[in-house]
Order: sequence, then C-alpha cells, then structure tokens
Amino acid sequence: MSNLKGRVHSIQSLGTVDGPGVRFVVFMQGCNLRCKCCHNPDTWELLGGVDYSPIELVEKAMRYKEYFGQNGGITFSGGEPILQAEFVKEVFALCHQNGINTCLDTSGSFLNDDVKALLAHTDRVLLDIKYTTDDLYKENVGCSLLPVLDFLKYLDEQGIKTTLRQVVIPTKSDDIENIFRLKELAKKHKCVDKIELLPFRKICQVKYDELKIEFPFGGISEPSKDKMDTLKSYIEEYL
Ligand code: SF4
Repeated sequence: MSNLKGRVHSIQSLGTVDGPGVRFVVFMQGCNLRCKCCHNPDTWELLGGVDYSPIELVEKAMRYKEYFGQNGGITFSGGEPILQAEFVKEVFALCHQNGINTCLDTSGSFLNDDVKALLAHTDRVLLDIKYTTDDLYKENVGCSLLPVLDFLKYLDEQGIKTTLRQVVIPTKSDDIENIFRLKELAKKHKCVDKIELLPFRKICQVKYDELKIEFPFGGISEPSKDKMDTLKSYIEEYL
C-alpha cells in the first residue's frame, strides 16, 4: 500500500448538488486558478487542509453507501482536485472496487498523465467551464479557454460522461450569445449529456472579509430568478 496522502479542505457527507443522486463530497485543498467569481477562496492555498490516506477517505465514504442508491456515490471538488490527481485516482480505484460511482468536479485547466490516469477511473466529470470566450477567461480566470477545450476533447475521445457547468454572472455570462456558445460546445461533444447553469452568489463575501482580501466581483449583483429561468429554458430547448 502506498503512503500517498491527500490534503482535504472539507467533506460534505451527504450532498445533492455536486453530481447525480446523493453524494459524499470531498473538497480538496489548493487551486491553481484565481477566478474573480470564486466562492471558495479559503481553498486556494496549496498547503494546509487535513491529511487523509486513500483508504481513510473510502472507509469514511462507505459509511454512507446505503444512501447513495442507484445514481449517487462520491464526488471530488475543490479547490482543484486534479492538482492531487494521483491521490484522487487511488481513492476512485478503491471506490470502484467497492461499487461506488465516482464523479470529478474540475475546471479542466490542464491535462497530464496523472490526470489521464485519474480520468480512467472517473464515471462522470462536472466540467466547470467558466466562460465561453478566451478574452473572458484571460480577464477573469487567469488562464486561457484553450486548455479547457483540450480537456473537453479528451473527455469526448474517452467517452466519459460530462456535465458542462457554468455560473451565470450578470454582465459577464448572462447573455444569450454565451448560452448559444455553450450549447454549440455541447453539440460538438457527444460526451456532454447535461448543461447546468448555476446562479452567481455573493454569500462568500464573508470569506473574503475573513481573509482580508478583496472580492473582485463584490460589486456585481446576483442574477434574478426570472433571468435564470429564461436562460435555463434556452438550455432545455436543446437537451
Ligand atoms: S477554480 Fe474554483 S476554487 Fe479555483 S479559483 Fe476558480 S472558482 Fe475558485
């Protein structure tokens, strides 16, 4: 058995919003990006968190197995879980040995051999595509859209079920053109069977205040329910 340890920020024993069904959600410590809309700035630091071995996490998840039902299982989110790809791969391999479905919530900003090995044990990817243009990526994420598109292409080639997820941010991504670009991306990649639009929320302001850093999108309003319903109806026309 390896001595590999993962740095975990926090765990949600029974989550219902990060992947299908009821899920044991592990938020990993550390992120390589600095999205201006980020609602988890407390996960950014690479160091810190609580150390877990793969078996410790799987044993913890197994306690909730009866709640997972047909569709549920384990989800790794963050932070950015692919920064600790080797560790997550070991957990997912153990999950599969124990009949637990695996889901990875990632920004998909890079792809290397460790990430590919992890994806080989991943049943579904929640791909957080922050925007649909390179300009918006460079301005508001700190990386280019291109590696994310490469990541999506790889998911398609491997036939890994994918949910495209996007946070709707007024003045940035709440326009119909963005929704059409998102739908076009879904149409081009057969692995995509779902698009999820999530409303931008500012409840994280308190975390920025605690960290004594500025929330770059603190001055942007949350989208209205009507706006979200309208944009979601455009998505539903497609899927
Ligand atoms: S990838 Fe996620 S955790 Fe990292 S900065 Fe962006 S929103 Fe925050």
